Formats: sequence, structure tokens, C-alpha cells
Amino acid sequence: MAESNPDLLIIGGGIYGCGIAQAAAASGYTVVLVEQYSIASGTSSQSTKLIHGGLRYLEQANLRLVYEALSERETLLKVAPALVSREWFYIPVYAGSRRPWWFIACGLLLYWLLSLGRSRFRRVPESQWQELLPGLSCDGLQAVLAYQDAATDDAALTRAVLDSARSMGCRVIEGCGLAAATYDGNFWRVRLDDGRELTTRMLINAAGPWMHQVSACIKPAPPELDIRLVQGSHLLLDRPCPTFIYTESDDGRVMFFRPWNGRMLAGTTETELAAMPRKPAPTPDEVATILATYNRYFPGSPCSEKDILQTFCGVRVLPASGGVFGASRETVMLPDDARSPAYLAVYGGKLTTYRREAEKALAWIARNTPPSVHADTAHIDL
Ligand SMILES: Cc1cc2nc3c(=O)[nH]c(=O)nc-3n(C[C@H](O)[C@H](O)[C@H](O)COP(=O)(O)OP(=O)(O)OC[C@H]3O[C@@H](n4cnc5c(N)ncnc54)[C@H](O)[C@@H]3O)c2cc1C
Repeated sequence: MAESNPDLLIIGGGIYGCGIAQAAAASGYTVVLVEQYSIASGTSSQSTKLIHGGLRYLEQANLRLVYEALSERETLLKVAPALVSREWFYIPVYAGSRRPWWFIACGLLLYWLLSLGRSRFRRVPESQWQELLPGLSCDGLQAVLAYQDAATDDAALTRAVLDSARSMGCRVIEGCGLAAATYDGNFWRVRLDDGRELTTRMLINAAGPWMHQVSACIKPAPPELDIRLVQGSHLLLDRPCPTFIYTESDDGRVMFFRPWNGRMLAGTTETELAAMPRKPAPTPDEVATILATYNRYFPGSPCSEKDILQTFCGVRVLPASGGVFGASRETVMLPDDARSPAYLAVYGGKLTTYRREAEKALAWIARNTPPSVHADTAHIDL
């Protein structure tokens, strides 16, 4: 009965859909999660794979987002020690860098304060530069700063969260999308691509960048946020990468070089899309930008397209207002009715904050159907 008539039907098996499934299952709801392809096949396997406050959001003065994300980082380090690890990140500062070293050091001090002392930082002595950052250009290098943050395997984390939901009774339907959903005032009548029919009290749209394609299948038409889709790419380069390096591309955007499967993962970019493709892929411009940045920082072992082992490409959902680079990374939740929602759209912001946002989604769900148990996912190990 619970399988075809769950309290909650979640569309989307990314970190947000899985996080909400876990929080809801822990609170005693019957939950079905529907994923059109496979779990974490969307943005949640294509990120930079960092669990971080986001140093660059300090420049946007978004202290609340950074504080919340840093506090979530600590929670995830506790509940998922096999999946989330604390790491040192290195910031090389050159004569021509946009931000002087003392400015970055002030940012690191603020980051340390917001992390309640859990993001240690230091200036790296020149005698250690080559040993810690082999191959990095020393031409004009003025300082290297180091700070602590965390990293993960985004897809593995997403699957672990869903496994936790499954262990508490959540049912998962993979390889099958939402075809149509109609609300009769009490229940949603939902049809899936394979013809299967379900009814549910509450529908959660966690379809990431496909959000509005999903809402187009829903009657009555749910509220929508004015968004834009911004693609970000990474290249896995056939180069060693012993550590995490925080750099800037020619246009001043942040670019990370990080270890991944024994090689170097480099990215990301920000390219606005007119429409959501079936499978996002890096554009030639993005590939050129990442390779040029790598070659500027590591001139001794230059890379070309033949050194690309794998590409990653994910799409961010950002609010339409504000520039792409400065746009807010906060999660936005849009219910159909604020007093007793039967539908909730979750426009996911950061991988790092999925758990806290899932708890907020639960507060909306509770307005429709109160939970039978009060559970805190901050104490459920993954
Ligand atoms: C390039 C890039 C780098 C990033 N790096 C970081 C980072 O380092 N740290 C961080 O904290 N955040 C990062 N983020 C943000 C983070 O990755 C996203 O916020 C998060 O992955 C969004 O998850 P989601 O569940 O909302 O979307 P998704 O992961 O895209 O999940 C949506 C799912 O819905 C499914 N779906 C769509 N339509 C249907 C349908 N009709 N029926 C059924 N299923 C459907 C899709 O197949 C998909 O699996 C990054 C984002 C990008 C783009």
C-alpha cells in the first residue's frame, strides 16, 4: 500500500532528493523516490566535490551561507568519516594576482572565525613551496597560503544518503521519470514513464536543472522561480596532483586543481545555457580556459586536449537576478501553498548544505502531514 500510496513522492535522485528522502524516512513518512536515469547521474556527480563554506562567498558578504556551510561541513565530517575528509588547500599568490596575499589572509581569518576555529590557516614558508606544490610556477610567486577545508566523492555521498533512506523504508524507482501529476485537492495522481500509477499527499520536485521540465508535467501548474542555468565543467588531466590548489583563471574566477583517482581534476567554469541539454558537456571554450589556467600554473608540464582522461559537466540552478559569478548559491524552496503545501520545489544550492536544507524541506512537509517521529539526521551515520 505504502509503495503505491506514499506520504511523499520525490522526483530526482540527486543529493537534494536523496537528502529529503533520508530526513523524511527518518521522521516516519512513507517515501518513494523516482529518478529518471540513475542515482547521482545529474549535477550531484559533476561538482568540484568539496564540502566547504566557500571562501569566495565571503567576498559577496554572504556570511550566513558560509557559516551554515562550515557548520554542515563539521556535521558531515562526523557522520560520514569514510566519505568526507579534512584537507589542506593551498593558495599561490603571484605579483599579478587579483587579490594581494594580505587580503586573502584576512579572508582566511574570517573563514577561521566562521568555522569556530576549525579551518586552520597559515602562510607556507618559501622553503616548502616546491615540496608541497611540485611543478607549480614560481615565476612571480609572492606567497603561498594554506587553509583547511573538506572534500568528498559527491556521487558516493549521494548514494550513501539514499542507502540510509532505504534502510528506513524509502522505496526507490530508478530509470523511470515522472510523466504526469494531477492534484485533485487532496491527493496527487501520478503517472510514471513506464505507465505505473501512484497517489501521494505531497509531491517534491528535486529535479535540479530539469526542475521546470518536471513542473511542465504537473497540473495545476506549480509556482516557478525565475532561474538561469549555468554550466560548470571539470577536466580530469593525466597529471599527478598531490594536493588541493585554489587558483584563479584569467577572468578572475576560482579554479581548483584537486586530486581525483590519482590524477588531477581541474575546474570549474561558468557558462550560461539557453536550455537544459539531455547530457551537458564542456564547450570548446571551457576546455580551452581550463587548459590555459593549468598551463599558466604548471608551465613545466603543459597539457593539451590529448591529456584529458575524462570530463565532468554539471549545471547550476541560479536565481535570474544578479551576475552569474555573484549569484546566490542558497537553496530556494517554493511551495504551492505556504500554509498547507501539497507541492514543494527545491532549487538546490550547494552539495555541502543538503542535509540542513532537507531538514528545512521537512518543516514544509510537516505543515501538510505532521511527522510521526522527530529524528535528527545530524546523528545518523552514513
Ligand atoms: C560545476 C559545479 C561544481 C559544484 N561544486 C560544488 C562543490 O564543490 N561543493 C558544493 O557544496 N556544491 C557544489 N556544487 C553545487 C552542487 O553540486 C549542487 O547544488 C547539487 O549537486 C544539486 O543537487 P540536486 O539534487 O538539486 O540536483 P541534481 O544532482 O541534478 O539531481 C536532480 C536529479 O533529478 C533527476 N530528474 C530530472 N528530471 C526528472 C524526471 N522527470 N523524473 C525523475 N527524475 C528526474 C535527474 O536525473 C537528476 O538525477 C557545484 C555545482 C556545479 C554545477
